[in-house]
Amino acid sequence: MTINISHIDVRDAEPLVLEVMRSGLLTQGKYVEALELGFARTCKTEHVVAVNNGTTALIVALEATDPENGDEVIIPPFTFVATLNAALAAGYTVRFADVDDDFLLDINHTEDQITNRTKSLVPVHLYGQCVDLNALERLQQRSGLRVVEDAAQSHGALSHGRAAGSLDIGCFSLYATKNLTAGEGGLVSTNDAKTAERLRIVRNQGMRNKYEYLMIGNNYRLSDLHAALAIPQLSRIDEVIEKRQKNAGLLRAGLEDTDGIQLPSEKPGHRHVWHQFTVVLAEGVNRELFIERMKTRGVGCGIYYPRLVHDYDCFKSHPRVVVTETPNAKRLSERCVSIPVHQHLSVNDVEQVIEAFQFSIK
Ligand SMILES: *Cc1c(COP(=O)(O)O)cnc(C)c1O
Repeated sequence: MTINISHIDVRDAEPLVLEVMRSGLLTQGKYVEALELGFARTCKTEHVVAVNNGTTALIVALEATDPENGDEVIIPPFTFVATLNAALAAGYTVRFADVDDDFLLDINHTEDQITNRTKSLVPVHLYGQCVDLNALERLQQRSGLRVVEDAAQSHGALSHGRAAGSLDIGCFSLYATKNLTAGEGGLVSTNDAKTAERLRIVRNQGMRNKYEYLMIGNNYRLSDLHAALAIPQLSRIDEVIEKRQKNAGLLRAGLEDTDGIQLPSEKPGHRHVWHQFTVVLAEGVNRELFIERMKTRGVGCGIYYPRLVHDYDCFKSHPRVVVTETPNAKRLSERCVSIPVHQHLSVNDVEQVIEAFQFSIK
């Protein structure tokens, strides 16, 4: 039996999805609202606005910071392309700050990248670990910048008791493989009532009441069918996180004596939700060969992400993409590999992953 990097099981949503189907009310309605209210408890904010995917969440959140021509946003270059695409779609000029050994935005390097045009930061809580929110808040207070958290991979992650997505504006994805899924979907979190109201209007054609248009909008709505798929997962999100933490603990224990790797860890004062368990291979280890060998032992791996996000022709020539040297991000992109850690792994599965790893790294 192959152990894949992700395993999607939403069968427990059947009754609720059937209920929506039978009601005939398929578009945004009471289930979307229930999802928003339920998720507000997870991300500990007063308002949550559901949209059609995580990329949209980032776009509308960044647009809500009102970028003007030439305004800059700082993002890490070690992220999914959606972070960059959304920043460009919102009208920003993009700069990059390096990441630390936990794969997360380096606050000091970020501060070095601030110019008099910088307006926002997008820290990415990569693999399920939250950037230190206290440090981010101090930077925000020093610099006056807006912070749009890309929390697409980190539902329920904590930093010093504060939830991912609770600092200023937070963005989550409900894509199929994320820890919380609706197949496709996105959530924006904020404590600011005005921002929440604006996002609700923008996602529905700029309309407050029927045919009362207040601003340029779009159709960014989530459907009740998708919301119904995700709702049952809300009640057991802590269970999912605990199972992933347990698996991460077993993987760490089983691999700690393995030469030539750096294991991921949970920072003190933080709750890592282990969307991915990502190992950094030593220089000289052939990553492609390692993955091939893992496959022969029935274990699927992932590379998130094999190149820096701006390292493609379409961005290299882009007038609003300003590239800086980020040596740590470059090193990590060349050597990272993610192995299965998801909640559906049995103890035997985790053992198989560990054995396959030790076989493959030799
Ligand atoms: C998944 C993801 C997104 C985008 O979410 P979609 O729902 O796929 O649009 C953005 N940023 C990061 C870091 C992601 O992992």
